[in-house]
Amino acid sequence: MGHIQLDNVSKSFGAVEVIPPLSLDINEGEFVIFVGPSGCGKSTLLRMIAGLEDVSSGRILIGGEDATLKSPAARRLAMVFQSYALYPHMSVRQNIGFPLRMAKVDKAERRERVEAAAKILNLTDYLDRKPSQLSGGQRQRVAIGRAIVREPEAFLFDEPLSNLDAALRVTMRLEISDLHENLGTTMIYVTHDQVEAMTMADKIVVLNKGLIEQVGSPLDLYARPENLFVAGFIGSPKMNFIPGNLLPESRGHMMGIRPEHVQVEASGGGHGGVVGFSEHLGSDTYLHIHETGLADTITVRTAGEIGLHHGDRVSLAFPAEHCHAFAESGSRIG
Ligand code: ADP
Ligand code: MG
Repeated sequence: MGHIQLDNVSKSFGAVEVIPPLSLDINEGEFVIFVGPSGCGKSTLLRMIAGLEDVSSGRILIGGEDATLKSPAARRLAMVFQSYALYPHMSVRQNIGFPLRMAKVDKAERRERVEAAAKILNLTDYLDRKPSQLSGGQRQRVAIGRAIVREPEAFLFDEPLSNLDAALRVTMRLEISDLHENLGTTMIYVTHDQVEAMTMADKIVVLNKGLIEQVGSPLDLYARPENLFVAGFIGSPKMNFIPGNLLPESRGHMMGIRPEHVQVEASGGGHGGVVGFSEHLGSDTYLHIHETGLADTITVRTAGEIGLHHGDRVSLAFPAEHCHAFAESGSRIG
């Protein structure tokens, strides 16, 4: 039932086309993440799936049935937003149970379903509190609980963690992944944060200006970006780009190499450079190498501490098996 197909759907606001015709298959039970820069059309696409936004053309199929003209309620999808939109005067129990009360589910069943959802979300001890007595993470869990009790065909999340601090985002990422594991329900999750996409998705859809740049598993996208956009978007620190005419080993208009694949050593053979700023993360060190004649900065990721300092002359090597080649059009070569 949770199989969702987008068949040439497009969206224009007035004369402005924000989503050119796009097709995509989301399999039953899959955790799919739409990722892309702000303004690329992620929320619009999600809202089209939810039925909160009409499509300008094309069809949306849910569980094999044409849902293009169905109301949001009839689609049986549950949406979770960035702002939790909880009712401040209601308890957690009442907030979670709200959609069931609207659907006139009787009291006993309501109680059972709310308590089951609370258990999944570790909210059992908080059922009688008001939202103001909860932390940000707990409030987001209440919003998710309100989606769970509806037993939807799929969950739609729109940047649900953006309001949380960094540590809590990491915890909530794991909780949402666990939730997906436990429920097995289709999830479509929108974020501009490629780390969220990489850590949670079964399938990532990279969007740019309303276009799909690439669809694949996190590791596919990381190991084999199909174009310069995906190569630059996925991965932190970012892939290095070196114009193709600057290195003898280059095969394309642009060569890309990830920071962990650049080899660095205190002077010797290879390509020269000078250590600039270094970022010491403890487990890793990111060295920013200047004066290479290849790019403004080449970022090198090394494990742990490395005895190189600001101003040291180094030599760099770019192992061919880790180099990505791109044509002038931006497409991957080979
Ligand atoms: P994202 O969620 O990826 O940040 P959105 O889907 O919110 O992007 O927006 C995509 C584009 O559509 C943006 O350029 C935005 O300004 C435009 N847009 C979104 N909603 C409307 C609307 N109701 N009317 C006009 N333009 C809109
Ligand atoms: Mg958005």
